Amino acid sequence: MISRERWQADVVVVGAGVAGLSTAIRLCQRVKSHNEAVESGKLKEEKLPSPTVLVIEKGISPGSHILSGALVDPRSLYALFPDFQEKKPPIEGEVISDPFYFLTSRLAFRLPYVPHLMRSKGCLMTSLSQFTRWLSQQAETLGIHILTGFSGVDFLREGEIIRGVRLGDRGIDKNGNPKSTVVYGEEIEAKVTVLAEGVHGRLTQLALEHLGLGKDRMPQSTVLGIKEIVQLPSSRLKPGTAIHTFGFPHDGNTFGGGFVYWRPENQVAIGLATGLDYKNPLLDPHHLFLQWKSHPLIRKFLSGGKVIEYGAKSIPEGGYFAIPQLVANGLVIVGDSAGLVNAVRLKGIHLAIQSGMDAGDAIFECWKKQSFTQEILHFYPQKFFNGWPGKELYRVRNLHQGFQYHRMMGILNIGLHTVSFGLWPFGKWPIRPEWSSLAPLSKKKPKIKIFSFPSSPLMLDKLTDVFFSGTQHEENQPSHITIKDPNACIEICKREFDCPCTRFCPAQVYEWIEEEKTIRVNFTNCLHCQTCEVKDPLQNIIWRLPEGGGGPRYKNG
Ligand SMILES: Cc1cc2nc3c(=O)[nH]c(=O)nc-3n(C[C@H](O)[C@H](O)[C@H](O)COP(=O)(O)OP(=O)(O)OC[C@H]3O[C@@H](n4cnc5c(N)ncnc54)[C@H](O)[C@@H]3O)c2cc1C
Ligand code: SF4
Ligand code: SF4
Repeated sequence: MISRERWQADVVVVGAGVAGLSTAIRLCQRVKSHNEAVESGKLKEEKLPSPTVLVIEKGISPGSHILSGALVDPRSLYALFPDFQEKKPPIEGEVISDPFYFLTSRLAFRLPYVPHLMRSKGCLMTSLSQFTRWLSQQAETLGIHILTGFSGVDFLREGEIIRGVRLGDRGIDKNGNPKSTVVYGEEIEAKVTVLAEGVHGRLTQLALEHLGLGKDRMPQSTVLGIKEIVQLPSSRLKPGTAIHTFGFPHDGNTFGGGFVYWRPENQVAIGLATGLDYKNPLLDPHHLFLQWKSHPLIRKFLSGGKVIEYGAKSIPEGGYFAIPQLVANGLVIVGDSAGLVNAVRLKGIHLAIQSGMDAGDAIFECWKKQSFTQEILHFYPQKFFNGWPGKELYRVRNLHQGFQYHRMMGILNIGLHTVSFGLWPFGKWPIRPEWSSLAPLSKKKPKIKIFSFPSSPLMLDKLTDVFFSGTQHEENQPSHITIKDPNACIEICKREFDCPCTRFCPAQVYEWIEEEKTIRVNFTNCLHCQTCEVKDPLQNIIWRLPEGGGGPRYKNG
């Protein structure tokens, strides 16, 4: 008989990213200022009790699973902390110069004009994992409890009402038997559960399925971002420079782009994003990243440098029409969990913070009334969609979809959008789920150029790169990745797609073993990037949360 402890909270937040922490902070700020106003006589109401707010995070520490660029549009941040600068946030600089380049395999053309909606000037430059650590400290000063190394794996439910979450078991061996250290996942009962899991979150998927929150919405579309921090012998970029590229190494049918951001201490943050709706089963996003780094323009910024950190993570790009219903009874969804990303700017931090603030305001209303129904929580989507975030997302509603047809179509779409002051594109352009986009090899063998790169501290193969992510998982636990039907890998996938998981995974978790004619899963390498479940053409991979604390250990993610 399994016995689980039951904990009580008023609000449980799943995920200590910017969205989850902003929700918790805003709620506690509102309660605090309400009580101060009552005490000073400015408000003739009752004082409110302080809510117990628990934030659970699967990473070993706040920020360890967070990876981003990151250029932050500061709009919502300044609203969350009017005294932001006094709190000494880890901001490295402000974008002063934001050139955009179109790359061919050898040349680089600087765009003479960059549409306003793609500009980054004025954004704050930071490492989002460091920023999240700082945000966690701000949360703790407000009395918010942050539990790291704990995964939320299921809901507590009463019919259609969400009553909290169940944490994952710890101390189960690889055969599924309890070790002497076993702790069965605690149940956290709460009046409101906030899903702030980032892209393709496990509980978010459950909520979409069981509560039908994704009904009538477009499927989500994702982009895989691969990032490195490079240490240079001397600085090559002026402080405040943020360079973006598009074109090479992506072909016209593959969405994507690269970035090079200045960092202090002679470092740069570099990255390449590749749309997972690509068609060529032989494509390897990590290989594209190496090709991009070897382009003359990028090489100029990186020569003599060495990689000191690596990571990968997906970004939801489906946009406005893919956003699910944001509230249910006892439940709200914020940030990347809900796909709140501006797909043209590739920016989601400001929307994650604002969604957290609006959700925090709605929970505050519930707290005052001691009623946590969908009707009162609905104040959150109402405020969000009627305010600037809704307008920003609506303006770019169909722009990512244009790139599904071809890069030129995508660019034309953005051009028409600019000259029509946002009226174009009309209607609702469809999105294909990524797993369905690969073209079978039996129909047409695609061309793929394999380049070999001399190994150097700058040009690392996948496995060496994974070492620089610091990823670790307890080995004596059940694999968190399973293949439903291994025969389908051999009988269908090998022939039709040549096992694309061996290429799309940026951590070489999947390996084809020729002698055994099977796929081996090296789950301990996993970076939790959330690519495999969405890109597997046979939907044959099941990715579940490993024991809490496992995964990457990003310092400057
Ligand atoms: C390479 C790259 C570059 C980017 N560049 C920019 C940029 O320059 N500017 C910008 O604005 N945006 C950028 N983005 C997007 C931006 O990072 C995201 O929009 C933002 O981080 C979303 O915040 P979030 O809190 O919703 O999710 P996340 O940052 O993903 O945080 C979610 C947290 O929840 C935890 N979690 C997930 N599931 C569970 C669970 N079940 N139990 C416990 N914990 C859980 C995760 O470990 C994580 O810590 C970029 C993204 C990438 C990948
Ligand atoms: S796990 Fe999926 S992608 Fe990998 S070989 Fe099997 S079916 Fe193909
Ligand atoms: S196994 Fe899946 S989630 Fe883990 S790194 Fe590979 S693609 Fe990403």
